[in-house]
Parts: sequence; C-alpha cells; structure tokens
Amino acid sequence: MALIDPIKLSQALIRHPSVTPDNGDTLDLLAENLTALGFDCHKLVFEEDGTDPVPNLYARLGTGAPNFCFAGHTDVVPVGATGSWSVDPFAADIKDGNLYGRGASDMKSAIAAFVAAVSRLLRDEAPKGSISLLITGDEEGPAINGTKKVLDWLEERGETLDYCLVGEPTNPQEMGQMIKVGRRGSLHGMLKVHGIQGHVAYPHTAKNPVPDLVAILAELNKEPLDAGNELFQASNLEIVNIDIDNDSHNVIPAEAKARFNVRFNNEFTPEGLQAELTRRMKRAGVDYEIDWWVSGDSFLTKKGPLSDAVVTAVQTVIDKTPELSTTGGTSDARFIKNMCPVVEFGLVGATMHKIDEHVAISDIETLSDIYLNVLKRLVI
Ligand SMILES: [Zn+2]
Repeated sequence: MALIDPIKLSQALIRHPSVTPDNGDTLDLLAENLTALGFDCHKLVFEEDGTDPVPNLYARLGTGAPNFCFAGHTDVVPVGATGSWSVDPFAADIKDGNLYGRGASDMKSAIAAFVAAVSRLLRDEAPKGSISLLITGDEEGPAINGTKKVLDWLEERGETLDYCLVGEPTNPQEMGQMIKVGRRGSLHGMLKVHGIQGHVAYPHTAKNPVPDLVAILAELNKEPLDAGNELFQASNLEIVNIDIDNDSHNVIPAEAKARFNVRFNNEFTPEGLQAELTRRMKRAGVDYEIDWWVSGDSFLTKKGPLSDAVVTAVQTVIDKTPELSTTGGTSDARFIKNMCPVVEFGLVGATMHKIDEHVAISDIETLSDIYLNVLKRLVI
C-alpha cells in the first residue's frame, strides 16, 4: 500500500483555497487519498434555511471496535490583506524549513498528518478496530451544517465513535506543550427592566428603570461564582453592554437593558448556572425580564485510555510531557463530547489566523509520528 507523504499532502490541501465554507474540492482530494487506502467515504452536504450548504466528509476503514476518529476541518479563515503576506497564501511554499499558507497551522497539515499516519500503520499491520475521519467544511463559520449534523447522521445510522482526537493546533510555541481535554462553556444573558417614561421633575408620575437595572447588575457580580479547580480556571461573568437609549437630560426613560456573558467551568451546568444567577438577581427585589442563550456547554474528558494514549505517544516520540489544559475558545470538540471521549492535539498555533501562517515541516513529520503512535495504542 502506498505511503502518503504528509508534507506533499499538506501542500496539495493548502493549494485548494477553501475559505469558509469549503466548496468541497479539498474534501474531494482528501476522499481520493482515503479511498486509495481502503476507506469507505461519505460526502455529506447539509443545509438549512438562511445558511450556505456545507460539504462534510465521513470516512471509515474497517467495521471492528473501537472506532477511533480523527476530526478536523478543511475550511480556513480569510487571508486578510493579501499584500501583507510575504508569499502567496495558497501557493504552499516551503522556505527555511517552514511550510507557508492559509491552513498550514489551522489545520490542513494536521489532516495530512492523520492520513500519513494511517498509511504507515496499514503498511505495518492490520488494525483490529476501525479508523475514521470526520472532516467538516464549516468550523470557522457558523458551524451549523458541520460536525454537529455529521454526528446526528452517524446516530441515525446507528454508528458511533469510541474515541476522538481533534487535530486543532493546541501547542502555543512548540510541539508537545499542550493537549486540550475540555473547554469552558458560554452563557449569554439579555436583561430588561421596564419603567414608566416621564418628566424628571415629576418623578411620582413616572418609574425610573435605571436604578433597578444597576441594583440587579450589582447583585450578579457581588461574590465570585466559584474558585475554579485543578483543571479549570474560575468561571467569570462579564457585563458587556448597558443600553438605556436616552439622550435627554429631563426624561426618565421607559426601559433599561443590559447584556452579560459568563464563561463557566464544569462546576456548573447551564441550568444550575441560570438558577444561581436568578437567585442573585432576585435579591435586588425588583421586576425584570431575562432571555438566556447557551452557545456551548463546558466539558471535561476525564483521564482515561484516550488521554493516556496521547500523553504517552507525545512522551515516546519527543520526550516531553504535555500539559492537560482547558483554556481557549470553543471548538467542534464541544459537539463530539456528547458521543465519546475527545481530546485535541495538533501543531503549533502561534501563527494561526495570521498573516504568513506557517509551520515547521519537521513538526508535521513529528505530528504524523505521534498520531501513528496513538493509533498503535488504541486500534491494534
Ligand atoms: Zn481550526
């Protein structure tokens, strides 16, 4: 069976300018490579009202258990000011040992490392378990027609993933620094207090909503939500907007609004957090309305065979012990965690989303070695 060179495949993927959402060419190229390795490939296009149709790829090799899944995305963020790049962002040039281009770090080279690792495994042995790839064209965009819908599709087919490794760039400066094992959640609160508009000189004929709003906001942040724990920083509530929409000096306004966002750790469920914030707001003793929106739940993948395999693989290949971290924004791991344990490990992210995005070609080789080592621990 042909070995796949992760550098050449990274270059080929970067040369398809798949600014989010991916139009599908990059996924076709990937599917060609995976079909040659014996994978069963499903190209899945999802859409719904008001969104662009998005192509995704689910590829599986074998039918045995466990089903180990590599997950990622082929879409990339826009290049920004093309003139600021020192290279063509879609030429995939190699200079001084670095591969340049949009998606080099986030995260086409990691996808190439997935495929190269599988090709090397198949040359040496036949896996007992299955290997799959879940690749979306919609991670950098609204993420409505991507990973979430592929997981629904899998569930409808009665198919499941047992372990998942997301190849997002998790290392801040050099390979082996960090594995992500969870993320904080995000809750938005939209608060409204009604009053009665009137003349400031006749307050008995009006009702001012502003002191009530201020009293509620003061209660919200009166004491810390929690102190964090071994794996998570503390939850924090930030008031991000107060809107009274009143330019006048002598009018009591009719309404006062505020918005806040909470990044919450695994000490809270979204419901538990809403209950705690409601308890605090009620202490102000005034009437209000609130709308909630949870844009991501917090999660933690507990120490187990998956995190052990990734940590040991990093130690074996590059003799470093990565930190287990829950920092950073959200990723598609927030959807996958509902199906199976998920951790994230990829390249160095120092230049992701930036001008002159690049990674060391030696790091791509190292990542492919680490992925191969993980596969040997979990599917052989
Ligand atoms: Zn990414």
